[in-house]
Amino acid sequence: MGRAIGIDLGTTNSCAALIEGGKPKVITYRNGQKTIPSVFAIDKSGNRLVGEEAQAQASANPDATVAASKRLIGRNYGSKQMESMKQVFTYELVEGESSEVLIKVKDQVFTLEQISAAILARIRDNAEDAIGETVDRAVITVPAYFNDKQRQAVRSAGKLAGIKVLRVLNEPTAAALAYGLGRTLDQTVAIYDLGGGTFDISIIRIKDKIFEVIATGGDTFLGGVDFDDRLMQHVLSTFLDNTGIDLSYDRSAVTRVRQSSEKAKINLSSTTEEEIFIEHICDDDNGNPLDLKLRVTREDLEKLTADLVERSIRTCERILKEANSNRDQLDEILLVGGQSRMPLVRRKVEAFLGRPPSQKVHPDEAVGIGAAIMAHSLVSRGADAEVTLLDVLPMAIGISRNDGTMHTLFPKNQPLPHFETRTLTTSKNEQRSIMLKIYQGESKHVAENELLGTFVFQGLRPAPKGDVKVEVTFDIDSEGILNLSARDTDTGELVESRIKLGKDDDGGSKRRVKKKKKDEPEAPKPPPMPLNMPTSSLRGGPTEDEADDNADRDETAQSAPARDESTAEEHRKAEEAAPIAPIKPKPSAQPSSDDAPGSTAPQSAQPPAPEKLGFFTRLFRWIFGGKR
Ligand code: AMP
Repeated sequence: MGRAIGIDLGTTNSCAALIEGGKPKVITYRNGQKTIPSVFAIDKSGNRLVGEEAQAQASANPDATVAASKRLIGRNYGSKQMESMKQVFTYELVEGESSEVLIKVKDQVFTLEQISAAILARIRDNAEDAIGETVDRAVITVPAYFNDKQRQAVRSAGKLAGIKVLRVLNEPTAAALAYGLGRTLDQTVAIYDLGGGTFDISIIRIKDKIFEVIATGGDTFLGGVDFDDRLMQHVLSTFLDNTGIDLSYDRSAVTRVRQSSEKAKINLSSTTEEEIFIEHICDDDNGNPLDLKLRVTREDLEKLTADLVERSIRTCERILKEANSNRDQLDEILLVGGQSRMPLVRRKVEAFLGRPPSQKVHPDEAVGIGAAIMAHSLVSRGADAEVTLLDVLPMAIGISRNDGTMHTLFPKNQPLPHFETRTLTTSKNEQRSIMLKIYQGESKHVAENELLGTFVFQGLRPAPKGDVKVEVTFDIDSEGILNLSARDTDTGELVESRIKLGKDDDGGSKRRVKKKKKDEPEAPKPPPMPLNMPTSSLRGGPTEDEADDNADRDETAQSAPARDESTAEEHRKAEEAAPIAPIKPKPSAQPSSDDAPGSTAPQSAQPPAPEKLGFFTRLFRWIFGGKR
């Protein structure tokens, strides 16, 4: 059996660690780096590239380079965030048959799980090279604010990469493990985790080897890339003012400006002034080469990003309140994530708490180390290595009522694991199936939350309405992943379910591109695109077909898409053989799911007219959050 490692699968960079001789060690690669860029690309010759190689060619090949894909993982194509993002990605985003997001790179279609699997496989291969041993198991970290679907997607990605995922672990909890290692503590700590793509805050009680999360929250659209975006916007608009040239329509130039902006941003954490210089960014009107040269100060950067930092502090206030705690009750606040190195972040956190944050963990390495500690704890028998984690649910999970509001089954911050049971009753004579739609999110209205899945209980015995009662058990495990099972309360028999929200879904049934409706317009091609993108959700409000918490209609259930098991199995086998083989869009042999409950409404076909900033400026802003 091979080694078990911890993997911090980041939005911008990923890092791995392991425990050696009882001590944590971050894996260093041949080039001396401790991180691998979370970037996937297909180069001009059709080769697949991951990590450094993919990043190095990004400016020359921007439309076939997939960066920050973690922001898309586990999202519904029709969700609010996707509504904005899908219109502005350089590479094409396609809707899969189960409303999931697929990425099209050079005419090949990939699931988000496949892209993450490619990155995980590279991390594993590099780790094996570095330690000279086989690596076959891992604990993989995720933002605490990831929902069930996103967590399952990360698990699936691990499986596709051939890695046994021992556990999906919340990033702030991992950082707390790194902090607690080798110490005997009795403390309440706040973990402020501002990474490349996401922000998390968790309040954690540490008592010896027991780590109990009291409250958690965050923002999956706030991270270092948003800071880069602000500086990039500033550079592009200054260049436009000075030269009259709008670079935002030039993919390659935008990629170079973005890379230089990030570099300047990082340097401005240790210097107060920085020059951004890009040679031959474009040609002037006479065809002569033009360079881009601009001095930026730390003060400039702080002005451009002050509201982002404020946003994180407001989330901290909210989560402290949810934890029924106040800042005086915190023993320490730990800053993790690369973006937390920014002096403005440190100052604001210090002002919020009234004391400086702890320096006791490494902001870039704590999460990977914590994952390694957890992996070691799970595979070792020695009591020394054992740690106990008590986590909470980051967002409420519930089902839809007829009026479109959410009936909460599990509230936010519900300690895990936990289960609930509900009894559903048939509402029609001879009803043979019952459907439930399950949502996760913080809104009272299901339409604003993420649809986790549609669950159909079928094969009910024929009986007058109200006679058949099905007891459904909603079980959330310690990783925040939901499983459902159902039983006929009279016969005691398990009820068959058609779509399972289970663990280790290999995505087999989800790998086909959704068939376009006959009259559906072509997906909008990228440039040029309007600045003011429509932001409303494509998914309409709940219809009469939506199930409520105690009854459902058989005809709605029957209209749900039947799963094509044989095709799913074929795909599964194909995946086992070639973990990141692209998906071949293929027509479905089953009825289209277009009309099934939860499917998206047609998109508005006509984008508004273009405005001052170009497509790529907006692209970056919308991909990476920015002004939404
Ligand atoms: P992580 O996901 O923790 O690897 O964080 C990556 C993010 O941290 C990227 O957006 C980096 O640009 C940013 N970052 C790394 N180092 C620094 C630094 N010294 N100052 C500001 N941001 C940084």
